[in-house]
Amino acid sequence: MLCANSNLCLNSYLAATATETHQARDKCRVRPRATTRIEMEIGGLDSNGREFKSADEMWREEVGDSQKKLDWYRNGVGYWQGVDASVDGVLGGYAHVNEPDIKASEAFLNTLLIELVPNGGRNQHLVALDCGSGIGRVTKNLLIRYFNEVDLLEPVSHFLEAARENLAPENLSVSEEHKASNFYCTPLQEFTPDTQRYDVIWVQWCIGHLADDDFVSFFKRAKAGLKPGGFFVLKENLAKSGFVLDNEDKSITRSDVYFKELFNQCGLNIYKLKDQKGFPDELFAVRMYALTTETLKKVGGSRPKRKANRPAIIK
Ligand code: SAH
Repeated sequence: MLCANSNLCLNSYLAATATETHQARDKCRVRPRATTRIEMEIGGLDSNGREFKSADEMWREEVGDSQKKLDWYRNGVGYWQGVDASVDGVLGGYAHVNEPDIKASEAFLNTLLIELVPNGGRNQHLVALDCGSGIGRVTKNLLIRYFNEVDLLEPVSHFLEAARENLAPENLSVSEEHKASNFYCTPLQEFTPDTQRYDVIWVQWCIGHLADDDFVSFFKRAKAGLKPGGFFVLKENLAKSGFVLDNEDKSITRSDVYFKELFNQCGLNIYKLKDQKGFPDELFAVRMYALTTETLKKVGGSRPKRKANRPAIIK
């Protein structure tokens, strides 16, 4: 679930009561390095209040064999096939969060472009990918103004068709140098981007549809789609702890700890993060992560700001 529906209040409550189980590990035991199987010792709940001891337990039930996995993705897409191709539809009835969402995203993106892209991206041909783009809300309100080309990836065809219409040149108020280029009707778990095409890959309110193994393999493939110095922005709901499974739309809301474990497995670093402000209280908290493939120094000479809450030696 992206951010809101009738389950939402319940989900927020459940998220608040979910527990993380950190089982003690036998330090002497030799453990193989992480493979495709995700070792996630994080407990969680589903939207009916059922408790899972670990994410593994939940994933085994939901996607434990190839038929189950097919059903998981079919039901996820099936849910959205029944939703209106409108801003209210993709925002679960909370169309009014569009404005604060875009404002906060723009501020975050601006900072990142200044810090990570030489010359702030000026006089360069910038390209972005909008993942799980829905009707093209993020592209239309934000990405198209900053990027010369935006590609959209969305598995629900009536959303993608609405995006095509919303982003037709006659419906845009940007110069001819800015356009929506490719419309891919594909789910994230099946997509491989062209090598080094993108400056930014934007992933908002859709990664909860991916099982952990597909999450990791998607980001690993997508890394190759970034230009050198390119980055991901992941904007997602956060569970207070563990995870919350939404049985209706087949998605999970992960906690910050859970995301960090997966970023680690993807070989991604958190360059910066920022919490969304100004959303109604009944919604999940929303966080923006800027993810890079290597530890980066700021472009333009100045050093990255030190985190005030971390001890650092005075040089
Ligand atoms: N990112 C858009 C849409 C959010 S709604 C926005 O912020 O406006 C969630 C979107 O995720 C829907 O468009 C839905 O079709 C899409 N989605 C569902 N399963 C997906 C999958 N497996 N891969 C990519 N997108 C998916």
